[in-house]
This record gives sequence, structure tokens and C-alpha cells, in this order.
Amino acid sequence: MSILSLKNISKYYKVKSSEKVYVLKDINLSFEKNELVAIIGESGSGKSTLMNLIGGLDSKYNGELFVNGDNIKKFKKRELDDYRKNKIGFVFQSFNLIPHLSILNNVAIAMTLSNVKKKERVKRAKELLIELGLKDHINKKPNQLSGGQKQRVAIARALVNDPEIIIADEPTGSLDSKTSMQVLEIMKSIAKAGKLVIMVTHSEKVASCCSRVIKIADGSINEDNKSFELEAAVGDEKNYEGSRYIRKRGKSLNSFNAIKLALTNMKEKAIRNIFISIGSSIGIMSLILMLAFGNGIKAYFNRTMNSYVNPLVIEVNMPSDDSETVDLDIATIQKPDINKQTPFKEEDIKKLSEIENVSSIEKGFNEISLGADSLSYNGKGSNVMRLSTISSNITESNLKEGTLPKDGEILINKTISDKVGEDVIGKKVTLSILVNQKVLKKEFVVSGIYTTAGGDLTSIMKSVFLNYSDLENWYLENKYELKSNVMYLNTPSEKYTDGIKEKVKELGYSGSSQEQMLNMFNSMISILTYVLSGISAVSLVVSAIMIVVIMYISVVERTKEIGIIKAIGGRRKDIRKIFVLEAFLIGCFSGIIGLAFAYALMRGINIKSIKLFGINLVLIKKSYAAFGLTLSIAISVLAGLLPANKAARLDPVESLRRE
Ligand code: ADP
Ligand code: MG
Repeated sequence: MSILSLKNISKYYKVKSSEKVYVLKDINLSFEKNELVAIIGESGSGKSTLMNLIGGLDSKYNGELFVNGDNIKKFKKRELDDYRKNKIGFVFQSFNLIPHLSILNNVAIAMTLSNVKKKERVKRAKELLIELGLKDHINKKPNQLSGGQKQRVAIARALVNDPEIIIADEPTGSLDSKTSMQVLEIMKSIAKAGKLVIMVTHSEKVASCCSRVIKIADGSINEDNKSFELEAAVGDEKNYEGSRYIRKRGKSLNSFNAIKLALTNMKEKAIRNIFISIGSSIGIMSLILMLAFGNGIKAYFNRTMNSYVNPLVIEVNMPSDDSETVDLDIATIQKPDINKQTPFKEEDIKKLSEIENVSSIEKGFNEISLGADSLSYNGKGSNVMRLSTISSNITESNLKEGTLPKDGEILINKTISDKVGEDVIGKKVTLSILVNQKVLKKEFVVSGIYTTAGGDLTSIMKSVFLNYSDLENWYLENKYELKSNVMYLNTPSEKYTDGIKEKVKELGYSGSSQEQMLNMFNSMISILTYVLSGISAVSLVVSAIMIVVIMYISVVERTKEIGIIKAIGGRRKDIRKIFVLEAFLIGCFSGIIGLAFAYALMRGINIKSIKLFGINLVLIKKSYAAFGLTLSIAISVLAGLLPANKAARLDPVESLRRE
């Protein structure tokens, strides 16, 4: 059985959609091993087309092509890839070495695609290169070699997977006559070693040294002459034998090697890739910074506001009646209507005290008087904006000076003490309050000065605090009844606080005004953060487009390389993998650069903001960093998919024709 036979092979190209132009017409040939075949014919006669069919690069033909009895037309895609990888070795006129790979890697890449271990790859490639007289050039790049040397590298690459058939399309076409003869000698020894070598040539001299000469003209075989038998050189056979290195069938490029290839490719265009990465990193950086900025501000406010609140006390207010504030105009805001809150009834108190883990309940009263009340001391006076009863909510930590008020004593805040004098502590002052259009006056002793978080309204609002019982009695003395409008729930442990707060809301009451403000503030910051992040996300779209464009350019630039990889057995999926991994690496780099920028800016901004406001304005959470990195990679890979697919689908014959 012949190792290779062609039965009624014909091939046409369609020109102008309808017209068929036959470039191969009913070709019948068969080949044995130990043959060195020269194919000669004029340019355009169909020699390359024939080589591509035999090499499994082109499957669009009529007729049958048998290799060791197998009809390769019946091969699945994968089997065809394996056929190219393991049965066929290609040598081209223009060498077709991959310029950015070293000589060693140019040879080894055919084995990399079969996932041969690195040690074996290097050993085998070195052996072949040494054998072909390239010992001193192993680590050079292709453009550092002469034509003859390049062609020997290409031959080494063709031999590395120990194929049975070597196809050489004008291997001496670019060489002078002396190096041509050297290459011919190599081809001869390969054929002697038990292979089939089919070589397209223009040179009569080269043809005359071959064991068989086939003349092709206008797509048909004109002559087929066996001039002599090559004596099989038994001794030489081991030279090109490498089957022990070869393949479990079907193995393909593994991810580790693909990453290495991708990295080598990217190094070739390092500057471009660095700029792309920096460009895409800007979007990631601003996204992370926006999130971190919102986080920093929230953290600061929550911390300062909560630091003055006793966690064991939960403040409860009656829900504000919305129906009253519907016609919200300036006039209604200026009226002190804020106090028209519904007071707590007995049933409310009962409901609240029945909440789980509430140990006791305190009544309170809170009035915003907006200046209707006043305080006088030593001839100096101050109006009072807010009158509040104290509860266990107010602790020593709220004292700037002095002690908490006992019966008959009050606490004033700093804005009032600034007005009436620092020496007021321990002194008697007169407090006037307006109840039902009547001014009530009473003397109290100031026990201390109240303080609270910087962001709290009460720190700017002139406030007076007194015991509930004092205020209740004062009302009673004037025949009024004090109706409590705030409740304080006490709990034995902090771990119940959140649960109780939730239950309070469920029952339809509101939390402390401070808490409400904080919630509102937090959701405002969240919205703001999302809007700002959304804006910075626009730049991510820009980077995605940038990556798509660059990858497309890269595919075009490397069309030839893709053709070569396919010719030596690379699969679509290998090529796609290499390109997707390049996109993945760009995503990694831009993510890392973006993170580095973000952290650097965070430090810079925080140093400044600590100086100015005493806080860390930007707080990057680990989750933001992870999110940024993942997003960067995801965007790049998505952007890379399209170009990678284009690369994978390139037709190898056309890619190799590309100048
Ligand atoms: P050779 O290698 O013998 O010089 P080729 O096999 O490269 O010739 O080409 C044979 C013929 O097929 C030429 O006439 C060429 O113009 C034609 N041909 C090659 N590729 C295409 C194609 N993609 N579309 C149309 N015609 C083609
Ligand atoms: Mg040709």
C-alpha cells in the first residue's frame, strides 16, 4: 500500500461567483516512502495548490486523498489537525519562521502545540538543530540568520514531530545555488531515512538529483519519471527518528504554554501593550476610588455620630404625620409646628415595653422651640432652640464639663454657655418656656455642659436638657399635663439593639432623629457613589473598544504567524486560546496598574485630608479591589473574544499567501 495516493483530485476556484476556474484537473498519483519527489512546472500551474491539499491545509477539492489507506476527507477537524501535526512536515520558500521566537522555540513550537514536556521539547529541538549544523545559532532570532540557515531551521521544525511526509514548496527558491545543494542533500538524507519528501522546485539541477520528477502544467500531470531508487540508508534512519517523543494523539496546547506564548507575543509589542494597560487602568482606578470615597465618608459620619450614642438605649419617636406637611411652603416651615407630634399613648407604651429584650422604658420630651424659650444668667440672656429631657441616652461621654443634672438641675450646651459665660456651671439661671401661649419661668442650677458629635444638629442648636420629672412637675404646677413625645427603650446588652430597632420600625414608630438623618445621609451618599461610579464606568467602555481595536490590528499583523501555526498543526482552539489569553493578560495588567494607582492616590488624598479634616476620606475595601480586578479582566476577555475568533477562523492557505 502506498503511503500517499491521490485519486481523481480536482480543484477549482470560483471567479466572479459563477465562473469556475480549474487549477487542478483529475490528478492521480501515488507515493512510497524513501522517495524524493520533485514537482516542477511553471508558475501558476497549481503546484502550491496541490501541496496544500496533501498537507491538509485545504479541504475543498473533489476526489480522494488517501494516507496509509485513510481517506483524509473523512477526517474530523481534530483528526485533520493531528494529521498536520504528526504526519506532515511543511517547508516553505519564504521560510515562514515566527520572527519574535528564538530559533529553538521556532522548532519547539510544533511540540508545544502537542503538549510535549518542556525538557523533551528542548532536547529534541536541540538535537535536530545540531544535526542540521545550527549549534551556534540556537538562541538567535530568525532575522539574525542567513537564508540557508533559516531554511535549515524550517526543516528542523518540519521534522520535529517525526512526520512521515515532508512537503517542501520551493524550499530552494530563495537560496543561492550552493546553499540550495546543501538543502537538497538534507532532503535526500531525510528521504533515505524512510520518509516521503515531496519538493516543489524550479531548478532543473535540483530536480535532476531527485529520485522522481513530476511535471505539472496547467493543473494536469504531464510527466512522471522515476529516475532512480534512493538506496535506503539503514544507518541514517535513526537520525530523524523521534517517535518516542511523539504524542499521545489528540493532545493540544495547554494553558501554561499558551500563557507563555501570549506573554512572548506581548513582549514583542511591549510599548503598545503598556499603553493599552495604562489606558484601561484609568477607568478601573476611578471606579475603585469613587466607591472608596463614598465608603470613607460614610464610615466617618457613622463613626462620629454613633460614638456619642449609648448603644443600650433605643430612642423611639412617633412617626411624623405626613399629611400636615403636604403644602410645604416657607410660611409653614417657619412656624414651630415641628412639635405638633402626636404624643405617645398608654397603648403605645405597652406595645413598646412588650418588645423582646426591652428591660425598661423611659418617657421623654423633646421640643424644638426655635427661640420661643430662653435662659438668663447674671443679666445676660440666650434664647433656647431646643428643650429636651435627659434619659440614660445621655451619659458622661456627653459631658464637656461638670456632672449630669440631678433634680432641679439642667445641662446646657456649648452654644449657650458661650453666650452667658463659662462660669455658669454650678450657678442658678432662670429658664423661661412657652407653654400654650403662656410664658413659664423657673430657676435651675447648671450642672454641666453638654457635647456631641460634630455632625449632630444639637451641637449648633442652643439646647437645654433637664430631668423628665422636673419638667413634668413644672407643668403640673401650672395645671398643664406634660405629654411625652419620645420614648427611650433600655436593653441589657448591645447584641439586642439592632433587633429592637427593627421591631420598632415594624410597629410603625421612627428611630431617633439622629438615626433617621444618618440613614438618609447614607442612602444619599450611596446614590451619589453609584452615579459617580457609573460615570467612571463609561471609561471602561472606552477601554473595551480600545482593546478590541488593538487586538484586531494584532490579528492582521500576525496573519502569517497564525497561518504557520495552523500549518504545523495548531488548532482553532489553540489560536483562540493564545489571543484570549493575551486579552486576559492585558486585563490583569490594567487591573493591577489601576489598583496601584488607586492605592497610591488613596494614600496621597488621605494624608491631605487628615491634615485638613482629621479623617481618612478614601477607604478602599478589599472587595472593591477584587471587584476592580475582576471587572478589568472580564472586560478585556470579552473584548478579546471577537478578534480571537477572527484569528481562529483565518484560512491557513490564505494566511500563508499573505506577503
Ligand atoms: P504555483 O504554486 O504552481 O505557482 P498555485 O498553486 O499557487 O500555483 O496557483 C495555481 C492557480 O490558482 C493560479 O493560477 C492562481 O492564480 C490560482 N489561485 C490560487 N489561489 C487562488 C484563490 N484564492 N482564488 C482564485 N484563484 C487562485
Ligand atoms: Mg507556488
